[in-house]
Amino acid sequence: MSSPAQRRQQILDDIARAAIVAKRDPADVQLIAVSKGHPVELIEQLIDVGQRDFGENRVQEALSKWPALIARYPDLRLHGIGQLQSNKAAEAVRLFDVIHSVDRVSLLDALAKEAVKADRRPAVYVQVNIGEEQQKGGCPIDEVGPLIEAVRDSSLPLAGLMAIPPQGVEPSPFFALLAKIARRHDVNGLSMGMSSDYKAAVMLGATAVRVGSALFED
Ligand SMILES: *Cc1c(COP(=O)(O)O)cnc(C)c1O
Repeated sequence: MSSPAQRRQQILDDIARAAIVAKRDPADVQLIAVSKGHPVELIEQLIDVGQRDFGENRVQEALSKWPALIARYPDLRLHGIGQLQSNKAAEAVRLFDVIHSVDRVSLLDALAKEAVKADRRPAVYVQVNIGEEQQKGGCPIDEVGPLIEAVRDSSLPLAGLMAIPPQGVEPSPFFALLAKIARRHDVNGLSMGMSSDYKAAVMLGATAVRVGSALFED
């Protein structure tokens, strides 16, 4: 049996080793603890050992868990990582410090409009449908350039590109492709890598990894 705090330390060590292999600075990789489906008691065990970046993929669940925690720990950063409907933009802007799932101009516009009302400026990642899958969220690869430009023209800071590779196949080629698209557009941030593949993602340039089950489940 291990605790979330012990698993976090293991993951941080893995991230540091992978970064060093890739001749990168481990400090350039942010560990986002994806707490969807997990209770506040486990989240607090991670806060106690210094974890500050957390990810949730549903606005409703995040609203039920996070406002009280954020009031107690004002330096927490909450990341919205799930698909987002424009009618949730107002809640998303008030709740999330970073939004990883901006995949269309209409959503960007809705967020920017609500950001003015709320006087907040969440940073946004452009989510790319890197495997060109029918059902998957994310912007088609050939529309990424214009969407990046739209973010740069908006009031919201561009955090980078985000992607979720197709399931059941080797993810590394997709991480490499996302990194290549980012370089082509002079984008620095790369949100890629989850429990099963964060080491590969770090070797290929991830600046943020989104890890859930490997942290929260024994
Ligand atoms: C759930 C989720 C994760 C974390 O997945 P694990 O495999 O549990 O690490 C990462 N990114 C997104 C977008 C998710 O929805």
